This record gives sequence, structure tokens and C-alpha cells, in this order.
Amino acid sequence: MRKALVIGNWKMNGQQVLNKSLVEQIKTGVANELLGRIDVGVCPPAVYAQSVIEQLSGVDIVVGAQNMSEHDSGAFTGEVSAVMLKDIGCGLVILGHSERRALFAETNVAVAAKVKAALAAGLMPVVCVGETLEQREAGKAADVVREQLDQGLAGVDASELSKVVIAYEPVWAIGTGLTASPEQAQEIHHLLRKALEAKSAAVAANVRLLYGGSVNAANAEALFAQPDIDGGLIGGASLKAEDFIAICRAAA
Ligand code: PEP
Repeated sequence: MRKALVIGNWKMNGQQVLNKSLVEQIKTGVANELLGRIDVGVCPPAVYAQSVIEQLSGVDIVVGAQNMSEHDSGAFTGEVSAVMLKDIGCGLVILGHSERRALFAETNVAVAAKVKAALAAGLMPVVCVGETLEQREAGKAADVVREQLDQGLAGVDASELSKVVIAYEPVWAIGTGLTASPEQAQEIHHLLRKALEAKSAAVAANVRLLYGGSVNAANAEALFAQPDIDGGLIGGASLKAEDFIAICRAAA
């Protein structure tokens, strides 16, 4: 049985006072009722990770980052490493988000290097894959996500695979209000799980596959009811405690 996982990606949003109130509400909303039945993570901007970690001390909500360097340390001005994230208490890192790919030219090769660095540091990589609308309309969605998966996980063996989470996030659904239908999402999730079987069928059966792309309180339940959808990576709705808690409830 795969335990459902819901992760909030705050992107470049929030400030200390707002974060405090959001985290307090999430903590109260999920702590007693949901934690234990599902796993929950929040990914604030890196500069706020430590204060969110402190605020969540003793609460089983994982704090993560939205990106990291493939290098551990050195002359890489402006970068943050997996080792540093682990050092302050982060537990996961989102890698290969479509905004990183589109706005910061992140390639599958770079994603693969970051996945290796995250695993080596003991962080859970949440590897994002997803096709653009153009690619979907050209009938290439399956090929695109398959290639992102294969190349993004290059060099990851079966024992490491068990520590990886994959997030299918169709680019056309991110922040647009358009959501993949549960059937569209399930089709890709099934394909991803089948592709992971090449590394190990037993491990692939246990890898959590998240859906992301305009998930909200109203559509979460139908998406999470699909057999290969094990939770969600939530952008916009993770900034509203009430919505994020409702999404967590839908995953439980
Ligand atoms: C995301 O950016 O990971 C995301 C899924 O965003 P949204 O939920 O706002 O579409």
C-alpha cells in the first residue's frame, strides 16, 4: 500500500508573517486528523525554510525546497546545495519543475545530476515531468514524459528508486485553472509506473506518483481516487490553508 503524499509548492510567494499564519493553520488542520494516514510536505522559498522547520518542530510535516544545486559546495554564487538543505532539516526537494525547465533552461541532464545529489544527501527528490499543450496536441505527451523520466532518473538504481517521488504535472494545467481529467492523469501515471518497472517491478509498485496542475478542493478527490495517483503537488491552492487542508483530506 502506498501512503498518499500531498506537497505544497509555495513558489516565490510568502513573507514571514504570512508564512507563520499559513503554517499555523496547516498544522492545526492536518495534525491530529490526517497525519499518520497521509504524508504532508510544504515547500516555502528556501530563505524561509528554516523558520518553517522551526515552527513545525515536533509535527510530522516535511519541509522541502523547490530547487537546489547539483553541487555540494563551492564557487556557485546564488546556489543552495542538497547538503545545506539537509543540514537545516529539509526532507525533500522538488526537481525539474516545469517553471525551472522553461524559465531557467533546466535540462533532463541537470535534473539527473540534482536527483543524484539529493539522494546522496538524504533528501527525497520529487521529480517533475509533464508535457506542454503543443506536445499533447501533437500526440507526444507519452513520449515527452517517458523521456523526462528516463533521462531524469538516469543512473538511479532500484534501491535508490524507492526514495524517489515522481510528480506528473502537465504544463498546460499548471496555474491555468485547467486540470487534466482523472482519466487523462491516470493514463500518464500508469505509463510512468510501467516505465519505472524497467528498474524494478517490485520497487515501481511502491513509488509514489503525484499529480500536479490546478488541483483544488473540488477536483482533488476524483484525481486521487485513480489507482496510480498517490497524492498531489499543489501550487496555488497550497497558499490557502483551507484549500490545502481540504486537498489533504481528499487524499486520506
Ligand atoms: C505547481 O506549480 O507545481 C502546481 C501544480 O501549480 P498549480 O497547482 O497552481 O497549478
